[in-house]
Amino acid sequence: MKLSNRITGMVGAAGGGWELFFKARAMADAGEPVVELTIGEHDIRTDPVILAAMDRAARGGHTGYAMMAGTDALRDAVAERVQARTGVETTRANVLITPGGQSALFAAHHATCDEGDRALFIDPYYATYPGTIRAVGAQPVPVAAHAEDAFQPRAADLAAAAPGAKSLLVNSPNNPTGAVYSRATLDGIAQVCRDHDLWLISDEVYDTQVWDGTHLSPRALPGMDARTLVVGSMSKSHAMTGSRIGWLVGPQEAIGYLANLAIHTTYGVPGFIQEAALFALEQGPGLEREIAAPFARRRAIALDILGRQNAIRALPPQGAMYMMLDIRATGMSGIGFAEHLLETHRIAVMPGESFGQAPAGHIRVALTVEDARFAEAFQTLVDTAGALAA
Ligand code: PLP
Repeated sequence: MKLSNRITGMVGAAGGGWELFFKARAMADAGEPVVELTIGEHDIRTDPVILAAMDRAARGGHTGYAMMAGTDALRDAVAERVQARTGVETTRANVLITPGGQSALFAAHHATCDEGDRALFIDPYYATYPGTIRAVGAQPVPVAAHAEDAFQPRAADLAAAAPGAKSLLVNSPNNPTGAVYSRATLDGIAQVCRDHDLWLISDEVYDTQVWDGTHLSPRALPGMDARTLVVGSMSKSHAMTGSRIGWLVGPQEAIGYLANLAIHTTYGVPGFIQEAALFALEQGPGLEREIAAPFARRRAIALDILGRQNAIRALPPQGAMYMMLDIRATGMSGIGFAEHLLETHRIAVMPGESFGQAPAGHIRVALTVEDARFAEAFQTLVDTAGALAA
């Protein structure tokens, strides 16, 4: 039987370096001592106090259908959080609770793009972006951000791609580059959206992981709250990746329609997960800082090691749990270097090529293993690059 083009064409042809991730996983599963610096998952689990809240909620009876757009209490808490951080008036009518940020990315594109519409996104990009855009029948259009600009996108490049497009997806703090977009970058993005009548989809799932600079939500820029959908998640801020809990914040009309999408797809997020999420948000920024702290420590370890060599060029990441390293001095591609590192030292990193064309010749290192092990692996990585570049 023939399947739809939409599902068979959703993910591009395999390649671009994800094979390396699967190879490393297979080696680790076979018992080899692989240091996995690949995906963005904390090396800690969800805090026991959050799990206790989840347990209390489930045992207290929250195991039936929950409100599909989210419980009033959680929507209120998210609205309050967003308003406090951005100054933009936000109520529960602006908030849809979703099963994670990924679901919110899908919902945002579903709400803004029709069949065949051009949907812009920035390259380097988080792996699911093009597939998410194709999943709603739209056409993914990458706009490159360059290493020499510290991976901040240029407004002129966005303006050149904008005519006829429906939406622009941006992500700051950025996965995979660690860039935190400056006020000037965000002003440029907002200007392009206003000039070309684009929806802005702002993926802010790393907003609690900022090491340098300040996170600014573009929804707070002049005239932007009516055309911005903000993706949020508790995966990274509260180490709740497996709980699948996030949100979309945007204009009331959009959120109203999107509640229908929730009814016709997920039928909402389990009530006991929503209760646990509410409890987690109520713990305030202290818990969030505690969860983010290991990444700041490992960033410092990496910068210290990088300061004593000159084969690898790297911009200190301003946010998120990754570092992008320029390994072009080795004469290898990101894929070639990552394969060499895995084969010779059992250290797995992501080739830059997995995240688009712009980060070719780079590798992405996730700051997601315990400090001493991270320091040892990172030193080996740097020594390996040094030997190749010599
Ligand atoms: N957006 C970015 C940039 C990410 O890196 C991720 C996960 O790694 C997500 C969205 C989706 O996260 P989740 O669906 O777990 O909230």
